[in-house]
Amino acid sequence: MDHPELRQEIVDTARRMNALGINQGTSGNLGVRVEGGLLVTPSGVLYEAMTAEDIVAMDFDGNWSCPAAGRRPTSEWHIHRDVLAGRDDVGAVVHTHAMFCTTLSCLHRDIPPFHYMIAVAGGSDIRCAPYATFGTRELSDNALKALEGRKACLLANHGMLALGDNLQKALALAVEVETLAAQYWRALQIGEPVLLDEAEMARVLEKFKTYGKPEAAADSEGAKAD
Ligand code: 13P
Ligand code: ZN
Repeated sequence: MDHPELRQEIVDTARRMNALGINQGTSGNLGVRVEGGLLVTPSGVLYEAMTAEDIVAMDFDGNWSCPAAGRRPTSEWHIHRDVLAGRDDVGAVVHTHAMFCTTLSCLHRDIPPFHYMIAVAGGSDIRCAPYATFGTRELSDNALKALEGRKACLLANHGMLALGDNLQKALALAVEVETLAAQYWRALQIGEPVLLDEAEMARVLEKFKTYGKPEAAADSEGAKAD
């Protein structure tokens, strides 16, 4: 079996996704880049029962194989394949049916810049991709468009996607985006949230280029700080 450790990391991340409360049941799925293709979770398998052998290997043409018998790739393999094939800034894709992201997605609402942390997804909003049936090429096309210049999006009447260099970062972003969705939802309960303007979001996005980055990047930013 190829990539035994990475396969186990996929299983562990899938379990963590549910334990963190940002997904439930067999909903959601994961994909990670490897040489010449990707590894994805199998379709419809309980995460508690999933093992490294159940993880499916795919190439970018959609050919797949799995060490365990009777497994198929996640129904959303188009999304994982298309994101990883089209975005060399991405190494891992996390898809969940997180409660608040999904709630907002049912209203077909983008998440606007109501909080500066919206910049964590790469821009001044988190878009909601138009609805398409789960597991279709159309859903993948819609998602890729909503992800232009972004590392996260909502999927209408469905859930959310978070991208990262690796599984750990993609999962961390999924948690951030679900937190933002919950905050936005709460703010909407009592009024119309005040939005940050484009100039402010541009400032935040600039600061995020060095935020949390060690050494040289942070030092040069520090030299400019007031
Ligand atoms: P899979 O079990 O096929 O990954 O499907 C779950 C899902 O979330 C579909 O969108
Ligand atoms: Zn889904």
